[in-house]
Amino acid sequence: MKTVSSPGLKSKLVFSFGGGKAEGNENQKELLGGKGANLHGMTKLGLPVPPGFTISTEVCTFYYGNKQAYPKSLVKNVELALGRVESVMKRKFGDRRNPLLVSVRSGARASMPGMMDTILNLGLNDETVKGLEEQSKDSRFAYDSYRRFITMYSDVVLGIHSNQFEIVLEDLKHERGVELDTQLTTADLQRLVQQYKQIVRTEGKTFPEDPWEQLWGAVGAVFGSWMSPRAITYRKLNDIPLEWGTAVNVQSMVFGNMGNDCATGVAFTRDPSTGVRKFFGEFLINAQGEDVVAGIRTPQPINVGSRHASAEELQTLEAAMPKAYKELVRTYQKLEKHYRDMQDIEFTIERGKLFMLQTRNGKRTAAAALRIACNMVKEGLISKREAVMRVQPEQLDQLLHPMLDPQARKTVLAKGLPASPGAATGQIVFDPETAEKWVKELNRKVILVRIETSPEDIGGMAVAQGILTARGGMTSHAAVVARGMGKCCVSGCQALKISNDSKLFTVGQQTFREGDYITLDGSTGEVIAGQVPTIAPTANLDLLQLMKWVDEFREIGVRTNADTPNDAKVARAFGAEGIGLCRTEHMFFESDRIDAVREMILADTKDGRERALAKILPMQKLDFKGIFREMKGLPVTIRLLDPPLHEFIPHKDEDLKGLANKIDVPFERLKRKAELLHEFNPMLGHRGCRLGVSFPEIYRTQVRAILEAACELVRDEGFSIVPEIMIPLVGDWRELKFCREYCEDEAKAVVARFNEQAAKGTAPRKKIAVKYLIGTMIELPRAALTAAEISKYADFFSFGTNDLTQTTYGLSRDDSGNFLKDYLDAKIYERDPFATLDTAGVGRLMDIAIREGRAARPGLKIGICGEHGGEPQSIDFCHRTGLDYVSCSPYRVPIARLAAAQSALKQSRTKKSKPRR
Ligand code: PEP
Ligand code: MG
Repeated sequence: MKTVSSPGLKSKLVFSFGGGKAEGNENQKELLGGKGANLHGMTKLGLPVPPGFTISTEVCTFYYGNKQAYPKSLVKNVELALGRVESVMKRKFGDRRNPLLVSVRSGARASMPGMMDTILNLGLNDETVKGLEEQSKDSRFAYDSYRRFITMYSDVVLGIHSNQFEIVLEDLKHERGVELDTQLTTADLQRLVQQYKQIVRTEGKTFPEDPWEQLWGAVGAVFGSWMSPRAITYRKLNDIPLEWGTAVNVQSMVFGNMGNDCATGVAFTRDPSTGVRKFFGEFLINAQGEDVVAGIRTPQPINVGSRHASAEELQTLEAAMPKAYKELVRTYQKLEKHYRDMQDIEFTIERGKLFMLQTRNGKRTAAAALRIACNMVKEGLISKREAVMRVQPEQLDQLLHPMLDPQARKTVLAKGLPASPGAATGQIVFDPETAEKWVKELNRKVILVRIETSPEDIGGMAVAQGILTARGGMTSHAAVVARGMGKCCVSGCQALKISNDSKLFTVGQQTFREGDYITLDGSTGEVIAGQVPTIAPTANLDLLQLMKWVDEFREIGVRTNADTPNDAKVARAFGAEGIGLCRTEHMFFESDRIDAVREMILADTKDGRERALAKILPMQKLDFKGIFREMKGLPVTIRLLDPPLHEFIPHKDEDLKGLANKIDVPFERLKRKAELLHEFNPMLGHRGCRLGVSFPEIYRTQVRAILEAACELVRDEGFSIVPEIMIPLVGDWRELKFCREYCEDEAKAVVARFNEQAAKGTAPRKKIAVKYLIGTMIELPRAALTAAEISKYADFFSFGTNDLTQTTYGLSRDDSGNFLKDYLDAKIYERDPFATLDTAGVGRLMDIAIREGRAARPGLKIGICGEHGGEPQSIDFCHRTGLDYVSCSPYRVPIARLAAAQSALKQSRTKKSKPRR
């Protein structure tokens, strides 16, 4: 063990707890890690926590900053702290008659379930095992603990895979003709200990007999696991900085496996799937903690309320150990009241006495997060503000997406536990590597099927649509991780017989191979053959309630990007307050108008183009009317034609030939035109307002359609509507000035024509007045940097951060605009720093444009309509930089509303601001 002197390290390195006293508290998560802080907190609350101590996260940081050496003073401090544990427990570490055994666990600041390693029963050797035998009066237990310790220690510290030990164990069980570990005798276990030690020797390693050597080996392994690939992956997926480090908790062992009056379990103070207020958990009699989580034995429900249909015959903890259960109930109530949040707790019962090993805020599904937040407000436990801060915006996605169509025919193959709700369809894969490969390289949707999952599977689990396991309960690794990821999971589906070698599973008479489709229903636990259609989700009353509170705190507006009346309708139902982007080119692609669009493109004269445009106009007008009606007077931003014209012409020769025949134009001429139109750099070529400069008749026609739609609605349906006409891809104020002027002429002409017609009519009519705005997108760096000039001609700005990201970072996109797929889709949701607006890149350009644009034109209305408008961290940026609204896809509207409210609440702690909508 390497140590170096540490004169710079002034703070306390080791914090003791136990015997009713604790040196730390629950608010010191940064220093003691989540688990450590809560052990100190629970001790202070007077709960039965086995004594121990926490080595602080600063030691981990020191360790990595000093070539993996410990601070010299740590050794002394650990010895003193262990001495305190010895005196509370009245046992001695390494004593051959009355040994103290400890657990060593990691505990990072943020909960990282299953990511870091744990060692139990540390302190056992060939001598102390006899002391344990005497203490417990149970030889079987003593040797069972010893062989478990050797397995864990060898795996975690010595790097010998636990498989090797499991094979020997399975062989022995087979030889004895027994099914469960508990059926093995003392002699069997003693033999296992010898065999295990032999494995260690064969691997060229030495199993340390000295408990102190064991302890330092374990501490080193905890720190080492902070840099393990699976911990690194988890940190990446969850935005946990490397510098945080982990704490180490060393705690006196209590035993759940000392006989049938012992047990161990995990529980949630409310149902983590539904949020219903009921104590919910699982336990195992005569077992150690990891048995419950590993899912090797099927756990029993702690009470009737935790019973699942498939576990009806199993006895509850309430029935098996009523006294301990009552104390557990008192404890959980105290914990929930104290922490004011749903708790995920771990407990052990040793000879009828309850011990608390852990408490933390429980991971939950989106539905549960909403239910718990709303109920806790009703119960007076938390405020509305806290409720709004409790639900993660991204989590809402789970509730807003389709679920299995209940009318669809489905062949249910088997039923497992409904571990994490939602529905998923995909191709079967049996290992995380294939999952990642198929998803990332082949763009497939997969279901990861495992006997049980382990932390190594994290990468595969992250990319899978859903997870299916043959073993494990509602608190198994698969279940906990899937719920955290908001991913559908069916666990403990025992009817599946999985063969990883042959890459298949059988269920009854049927065989399913890698690549076959299956569907999972995480809400019922059903495993279904093939692909099943999905439907839109039903209304969630808790969501509606929370959204009401959200809107009380939110300051910036939330609009939607919608191109059709139906999109607009969906978005309105989700609470959109307007349309921030209606992309008109999508209307051009409709099958009944694409021919007219192509005729317009191929026309060589202005007259020819106008003739074709006249065919398109009534159809676009109809679209706009439909959208205006859905938005019932709310603002609607309509973007004039943006993409380069070649996007409307077929790319392949055979398609071009078909078109040539259809419109009666020689193929060669058509091909020449297509080549002429082709843009080498479609991102910056002849598109956006440049088309508007070259062919004003296109934008004029669109403006005519917009204004006619608005005027007709005002005239015929009593509507008031203020269309916001948006000119795309402006890079220079002259482009905007030129387009704006003729668009304004056109708009005025339409309104004047309507009034003339009205005047000619017989019935008395009111003057038709339609207000409209003409603004621009800021999607080129030059536009952002010259915002002061541009704003003179713009009634509003809207940041097109899709293009702005491309142009700032110099990325290109393919002809069909597919950069979103490769860049934003892939990266925003992996929280790549480039994908979130920040003050170093796109965000800085936005900041300049906002400040300089508003300085030149005070009160300038500014929004965002790129994909960032639906991404919570970017929404926070938009809030801070003073945008009026964000606009995102319809299904992300509730996410954006919640994220905006959270930004307002976070900022209101430092400054009071007022709604900008
Ligand atoms: C943008 O560039 O951000 C934008 C919204 O426009 P599009 O994605 O249509 O280019
Ligand atoms: Mg754009």
